Amino acid sequence: MAERKIEKLTKEKQKVIKDLPPLDKLMRGTFIQSYLECIRAGCKCHKAKKYRHGPYYRVSYGKDGRMHHVYVPVKMKEEVKQWTENYNKLWEAVEKISDINSRIIRLKK
Ligand SMILES: [Zn+2]
Repeated sequence: MAERKIEKLTKEKQKVIKDLPPLDKLMRGTFIQSYLECIRAGCKCHKAKKYRHGPYYRVSYGKDGRMHHVYVPVKMKEEVKQWTENYNKLWEAVEKISDINSRIIRLKK
């Protein structure tokens, strides 16, 4: 009985591994789209949010106790957004495999 369950869980792990995102296409951080005010005194962007410039894209992430921001060129926005999604997918997969392994340990008792 336990053996069949373990076999099933092992197959589940293989499925998780098969769906892993490519490891060279990852980025840790939050992908952010923003509209900004400029420094020109008379510019209408200071009057209302709808006049702000943009959109601009960046990835923000914490490292060594502070926040870092990487500005993303418009032509890379879809690609980089995907990288941040891949990073999250990878950790979901790690969590899933860890969970399955803990179930396997309990079945072996
Ligand atoms: Zn402006």
